[in-house]
Amino acid sequence: MNQSSMQAAVWYAARDIRVEQVPVPTISDPHEVKVKVAACGICGSDLHEYAAGPIFIPVGKPHPISGEQAPIIMGHEFAGEVVEVGDKVTRVKVGDRVAIEPILSPNKDGAYQMERYNLTPLLVFTAYPAVAVASRRSP
Ligand SMILES: [Zn+2]
Repeated sequence: MNQSSMQAAVWYAARDIRVEQVPVPTISDPHEVKVKVAACGICGSDLHEYAAGPIFIPVGKPHPISGEQAPIIMGHEFAGEVVEVGDKVTRVKVGDRVAIEPILSPNKDGAYQMERYNLTPLLVFTAYPAVAVASRRSP
């Protein structure tokens, strides 16, 4: 393995997760942060996606918030070290240790302000498309 690729668990369908070699993400947006994962848990959501998905994983068309769809790299409960930041990132810097809030949710109709952002029907977790891997945006 070289530094331009890495192994990842990629969800294709229920009971179909494959460990594959995928490109290492690159920053393509000035608001993005690249994190080298130090630890990643298996969430109950991951187990449900494996056993009976798709539940939150978009299949057949991109999710309206994340723009992503299956196949998707699993593992949204993670922490690590910031290794690269976009030009517009101001709240974290290279070398910071971070834990990720994995929920992407719309900030409209008051749901986010009411701290119930996890109840939106548009809920999606951070994930990477297996083909066009991209870093996630910073908050
Ligand atoms: Zn989770």
